[in-house]
Amino acid sequence: MLPYKTIQEAETALGRALTTAETLWFNYSATKSDYFLFCHNILFLFLIFSIVPLFYIFIEFVYKKVHIYKIQPKVKLSYSETFRCYRDVMRMFFLVVGPLQLVSYPSIKMIGIRMGLPLPSLGEIVAQLAVYFTIEDYTNYWIHRFLHCKWGYEKIHRVHHEYTAPIGFAAPYAHWAEVLILGIPSFLGPAVVPGHMITFWLWIALRQIEAIETHSGYDIPWTPTKYIPFYGGADYHDYHHYVGGQSQSNFASVFTYCDYIYGTDKGYRYQKRLLWQLKNESKSSGQQNGGSYNIYTGDLKCD
Ligand SMILES: [Zn+2]
Ligand SMILES: [Zn+2]
Repeated sequence: MLPYKTIQEAETALGRALTTAETLWFNYSATKSDYFLFCHNILFLFLIFSIVPLFYIFIEFVYKKVHIYKIQPKVKLSYSETFRCYRDVMRMFFLVVGPLQLVSYPSIKMIGIRMGLPLPSLGEIVAQLAVYFTIEDYTNYWIHRFLHCKWGYEKIHRVHHEYTAPIGFAAPYAHWAEVLILGIPSFLGPAVVPGHMITFWLWIALRQIEAIETHSGYDIPWTPTKYIPFYGGADYHDYHHYVGGQSQSNFASVFTYCDYIYGTDKGYRYQKRLLWQLKNESKSSGQQNGGSYNIYTGDLKCD
């Protein structure tokens, strides 16, 4: 809730006219409680978990031209298997994710997420998001690596690895303990560099959209994330699921540099090199089958 009753009052306090974005924010948030504004995250997460994967469902079941980019092309889930994944994710959402949001409000206030005016500049938002992604990636790397020890995997992380060929809906599919544990890396960035609630909303939304893309099962070359330096993407994380419980490779959630620095990308790099060699040999021997040769891991495994 804003401490100003009118826009004029806000402008007097700021010593300048409100921008268009600030006027919109004033009109929307002035009479709403901070707790209610924070709880918008629950709605945003519900919409993201439900709607964003539909793009990949459309590709999988309807627009099959894009199947040339499918990472494990021989793995096909049925409608009912896909829906079962969504149903399980929603059960976890209402039992764990939603309640976790409801009770984490005091921590948001404690770290100093602000909801008032002025709004942050675009540059401030982008810089803070970059910090959040970097901190989350580094912390998530080590937690994920710990979850691959015998105890962590068998008791907790095994659930997330049920999908050896992941789909968009499976991004948040995990044991309830993993959902709680991985809340820590998501929270650390905003705790270190607290920003505005709008930045926080964006952070939670973008992180989940990124996770859905990396679990989509499609390595689409024209996705904008291809332009992000050191970005792992779908192919990178798919390999981690493909190898499964024995995987000691590709632990990072967003970028590739942690796995490179700590030497946990060797299996993936070897696999990539091998597949490129096979592709080139196939080309040079004139056996390329009309461009449908797939360099991705699924083909190599299934063949
Ligand atoms: Zn894992
Ligand atoms: Zn995963």
